[in-house]
Amino acid sequence: MRKNVIAGNWKMNKVSQEVTQFVDEIVSKIPTSENVEAIVCAPFPYLAKLVEQTEGTALKVSAQNMHFENEGAFTGEVSPIMLKDIGVTHVVLGHSERREYFAETDETVNKKVHAAFNHGLTPIVCVGETLEQREANETKAHVEKQVKQAILGLTEAQVAETIIAYEPIWAIGTGKTASSADANEVCAHIRQVINEVTSEKTAQEVVIQYGGSVKPANVDELLAQSDIDGALVGGASLEADSFLQLVEAGA
Ligand code: PGA
Repeated sequence: MRKNVIAGNWKMNKVSQEVTQFVDEIVSKIPTSENVEAIVCAPFPYLAKLVEQTEGTALKVSAQNMHFENEGAFTGEVSPIMLKDIGVTHVVLGHSERREYFAETDETVNKKVHAAFNHGLTPIVCVGETLEQREANETKAHVEKQVKQAILGLTEAQVAETIIAYEPIWAIGTGKTASSADANEVCAHIRQVINEVTSEKTAQEVVIQYGGSVKPANVDELLAQSDIDGALVGGASLEADSFLQLVEAGA
């Protein structure tokens, strides 16, 4: 049985006081159910403090990006060793905003996925099509290519541990959600691709999230789908109450 992974992607939001307040409000209320895992994906400056604040609780802490190198002359970058060092457990890789504004490619995403596993971090790999691609009926082919490139060279056990977030770009921050049936169709296709590359067993283990304007009002329907195992949530994860409702929906 796969669990639901509910990850709140704060993007470039919140300052320290808001981070503390958010955690204080929800940390004791996060369900400890085996069916759900709750993660907050915070900006770099708050990760270490968040790890301290959430220690011993059911809330996990993720970065939103990292470099693939361990160390070196890469001004402004953060390495997997550093994330591991401060106790971060997950890292979001290849978010469409990183691909669009920061020249992230399938190749760099693949390097980062390997780097994450080399340092014991769980990658949350984002894939998804543009509106143009959807209208041109290229969604499945595009997402398939992104998934295959992202997991290239991983062991089957690593593929099983990878969290994939299917996020149609046109649904991110727009209030437009893919219909749950459409979202499920793409998630099922991703599972089929994993099956082809690895095995049926691994395909059944991989957690595939949906992301794109998920909120308390639509999360139940999305999570009820056969191949959607949680959500990567931006806007609706910023308020403690709303994030908690999403986690409870997954429990
Ligand atoms: P949204 O963002 O929930 O605000 O659409 C999702 C994401 O970008 O991960």
